[in-house]
Amino acid sequence: MQRTLAILKPDSVGAGHAGKILAHLEAEGFEIVAIKKMHLTTEQAQAFYEVHRKRPFYGSLVEFMTSGPIMPLALEREDAVTYLRQVMGATDPIDAAEGTLRKLFATSIETNAIHGSDSPENARDELRFFFSRAELIAS
Ligand code: ATP
Ligand code: MG
Repeated sequence: MQRTLAILKPDSVGAGHAGKILAHLEAEGFEIVAIKKMHLTTEQAQAFYEVHRKRPFYGSLVEFMTSGPIMPLALEREDAVTYLRQVMGATDPIDAAEGTLRKLFATSIETNAIHGSDSPENARDELRFFFSRAELIAS
């Protein structure tokens, strides 16, 4: 079993799609180990997306991610990191495969519904960014 971090982004939470996305993830075999709803500060969003600081979309991405509440999730499943990325679909919904979460719920390459960690190492770091050790104790 492996864990990964997902974030329901401000677009999907704001549109009232959180319940449908959670149901979709559960149907794909993910256990929701931990979940919260929060509104990131600019400093928190900048820190989370530090790897993208040099990218042209960094400022806009930070603004988007602080535009409303998000829902970080700790998810557990076999091969969770890779499998979640498949279930999410491509970054740009135009390129996302039929039936993927981004095809279903994303509205642009930026407002793309959900984040998923891109490696087991980043998953560990990103889980720690949002959740305490106590919150990550297996249920
Ligand atoms: P995430 O990290 O959110 O799971 P990803 O790994 O598919 O998405 P990244 O390249 O890591 O994509 O980009 C992080 C986020 O930055 C994207 O999910 C999207 O919200 C935003 N983004 C990426 N590329 C662009 C772009 N060209 N223009 C605007 N926003 C972008
Ligand atoms: Mg990424």
